[in-house]
Amino acid sequence: MKTHAFSRRDFLRTASIGAGALALGDTLSAFAPKADKKLGIALVGLGMYSTDQLGPALQHTQNCYLAGIVTGHPAKAEVWKKRYNIPDKNVYNYETYDQIKNNPDIDIIYVVLPVSMHKEYTIRAAQAGKHVICEKPMALNAKDCEDMIAACKKANRLLSIGYRLHFEPHNMEIMRLGQKQIYGKVTSIDTGNGFTYRGDPNAWRLKKAMAGGGGLMDMGIYSIQGTRYTLGKEPIAVKATQEKTRPDFFKEVDETVFWELEFPGGFTATGKSSYNHDWSYLHVQAERGKFGLEPAFGYGELDGYTSAGPMNIPNIIQQAAQMDDFANCVRQNKQSRVPGEEGLKDMKVVDAIYRSLASGKKEAII
Ligand code: NAD
Repeated sequence: MKTHAFSRRDFLRTASIGAGALALGDTLSAFAPKADKKLGIALVGLGMYSTDQLGPALQHTQNCYLAGIVTGHPAKAEVWKKRYNIPDKNVYNYETYDQIKNNPDIDIIYVVLPVSMHKEYTIRAAQAGKHVICEKPMALNAKDCEDMIAACKKANRLLSIGYRLHFEPHNMEIMRLGQKQIYGKVTSIDTGNGFTYRGDPNAWRLKKAMAGGGGLMDMGIYSIQGTRYTLGKEPIAVKATQEKTRPDFFKEVDETVFWELEFPGGFTATGKSSYNHDWSYLHVQAERGKFGLEPAFGYGELDGYTSAGPMNIPNIIQQAAQMDDFANCVRQNKQSRVPGEEGLKDMKVVDAIYRSLASGKKEAII
């Protein structure tokens, strides 16, 4: 089989495609251009993702740097201050959060909190005059996403969602192959994402009020994204079923969910999410060939193939690329490739999947 070497030219071409919506990138004239300096990011919530991924990734960024932190734990603040040389004046807690508005070192607030807190902390960040990155899933439901988008617009601040895979070369190649129909029209998509949850049974991820849901909200969002950015189209309806093998453990949230996502014209893609299976794949069949990723969605080493052979694409620090792109958007006063509207589209699908689980019927995505 022929190897598909991934050249810099391919990368740049892919980078210009973007996710699901080739029309994004409107210039937002309301923002004053920034000087050509590294923009300061403050991380809100110093849990697993901030500690293991975002903090380290910010040591590799070109357009932004770790300027500040917001944490409710003074002991954590001490560790971070020492590790990343953060001055006292850039350390906040949840009571002093709004005072960030007076801090010119901080241009961007990155919300890395439990899902139920995303809306409030995003809106307060925008009201403090800061641009915002909010982690996935964007909020508990689509209505909250709409409120977040409206608040950021009203404050004239940019909002982006922590969709790192839109800056990840394997996934960007999938967007190119699918959206440009390099192997012809896509005829089938099957995707799954999940892990076997063995963590604390009292963690926020298992509480419906804090997480909004289980494996679907946390992991399924990537499968939904993957399907949407392979096609570059929006689904119109969904039919879902679920399985619970540990109902005593997953008392409040979904464990494994299966769905069929319907697109205009009748094309249907299958997807699944789980807190009880280790899945990470996206397999696509097209008229003249196939392509896919496995693993597809993590931040470790990803791997891809086409009918022509292995993709041979280098892995990168996804979060560094994602944050650098947003800092660049802020500098250039332009909409992110993954704005709040992108998070909203996924939450509309998630909401419809939960409606379908409740009704047992196909539900429109509205
Ligand atoms: P975590 O539980 O490790 O960290 C959550 C943080 O929020 C902790 O620092 C905790 O102290 C703080 N917090 C503040 N108020 C809290 C409260 N009332 N209850 C619980 N915690 C509270 O979670 P995490 O894995 O770091 O996830 C945080 C966010 O990042 C989630 O939205 C998650 O979906 C997202 N995430 C994204 C990725 C990705 O690849 N993009 C990966 C992991 C997590």
